[in-house]
Amino acid sequence: MKRSGSPDTHVVPPPKAADASRSTTEVGRPLVAIVGRPNVGKSALFNRLVRGRVAIVEDEPGTTRDRLYGDVEWRGRHLRFVDTGGLETEGRLPLLTQVRHQVESAIREADVLLLLVDARDGLTTGDHEVADVLRRTAKPVLLVANKAESEPTRQAAIEFYKLGFGEPIPISAHHGLGVDELLDLVVSSLPRARLRRVGEEVAGEAPRIAIIGRPNVGKSLLLNAVLGEERVVVSEEPGTTRDSIDTRFRYEGRDLVLVDTAGIRRPGKIQRGVERHAVLRAERALERAEVALLVMDASEGVTAQDTHIAGRAQKARCGLVLVANKWDLMPPDPAVRREFQTLVRARFRFAPWAPLCFVSAKARTGLPAMLDAALAASEERRRRIPTHELNSLVMHLLAEHEPPPVKGRRLKVLYVTQAEREPPTFVFFANDASLVHFSYRRYLENGLRRAYGFRGTPIRLVFRSRGE
Ligand code: GDP
Repeated sequence: MKRSGSPDTHVVPPPKAADASRSTTEVGRPLVAIVGRPNVGKSALFNRLVRGRVAIVEDEPGTTRDRLYGDVEWRGRHLRFVDTGGLETEGRLPLLTQVRHQVESAIREADVLLLLVDARDGLTTGDHEVADVLRRTAKPVLLVANKAESEPTRQAAIEFYKLGFGEPIPISAHHGLGVDELLDLVVSSLPRARLRRVGEEVAGEAPRIAIIGRPNVGKSLLLNAVLGEERVVVSEEPGTTRDSIDTRFRYEGRDLVLVDTAGIRRPGKIQRGVERHAVLRAERALERAEVALLVMDASEGVTAQDTHIAGRAQKARCGLVLVANKWDLMPPDPAVRREFQTLVRARFRFAPWAPLCFVSAKARTGLPAMLDAALAASEERRRRIPTHELNSLVMHLLAEHEPPPVKGRRLKVLYVTQAEREPPTFVFFANDASLVHFSYRRYLENGLRRAYGFRGTPIRLVFRSRGE
């Protein structure tokens, strides 16, 4: 077994595409579910595969547990993994019932199932129970023996043959052993039609937008108000709408996806840990979104948690639109609006580029402007600036305001290129990257924004020393 982590495995951002999170949609990524009795290491394997890209683990009993999805790019193919481990503690159901639930839902939605067992424990009744449920599916099942770090355990894993799913594939999720081989086997077990090459665009790339914010700011009313808008047509995709976690709709001739709306529709009935839950939910939505609508309750001003959640959007490199909701509760005075604007600019100093919208979900005001701002932000986030244009702008900025000397040496920029979109990322090749003072970096960012706008999206400036 070789260690996993060859250069062609890396996690890519989730598809900004028509394939909503459901694998059952034909255009979606193939979905691989990891099932097994508790404690065999399902989450460890999931985390190993997605490498921390999906970072939500809810361990608060009684909260609405959702499955975790993680996207992986393997040898040029897109795969999506689902961790069903989270379903285990739902309620206090007997083990058998829990396992059954977990496996049945996995069978329904996945294209391939990984039956995970614990090589150190050997074959248990729990494994037999899971296997019994799995036998009812015609979908491919791969038997995977985890915790097989040592040669004796690997040998002992042979007994899992008895489950009737062929030869066990030995791995160690914890140590990353055998994971590459497992991924190869997953790919070869998938129906060809389900494999899409990386870079192949899915028709009708729709901007993916997340509604985030602390509890009670009006997210759920806002969602309903948006969907009730005259110019909005919610798509009814048969078979995917009922338990889909995203909402897809058309607005002024454009497709849009609001991600993770199921979580907004059924707010967790939780008292304890409410704040933390809000942050976790926001993070999960941001994983798959391009632009975040950060909803605030304007009647309460800007709270520390509002800025905290917005910080998560920034961390996820999402576009950001600030939404002052419940504006109907505010006095209709332009001075009040200006005051709020000033407050927002002071509190969201890290995102001066984020537009601010005043809305009322209740009175249904300001909604088209908010949707326009979100669409515009997603367009800005996808922009590409031609290299020659970029270089002449940056050379001009350098000439206009020379970099200050640092310890007697001066920054020289040789060449600039936009290495990535989503968000726009500019790589500056310089004589010595350590000579970039943060204020000079800000000067360059401001210069780029003055020229190109990039309203609603973060941009990244990366400096590389010559030869790096
Ligand atoms: P969520 O927890 O963020 O989803 O918040 P909800 O949508 O459940 O709203 C929380 C409360 O604020 C409810 O009582 C709503 O009726 C109220 N609310 C939401 N939006 C508005 C608004 O624009 N104006 C007023 N006055 N109340 C609102």
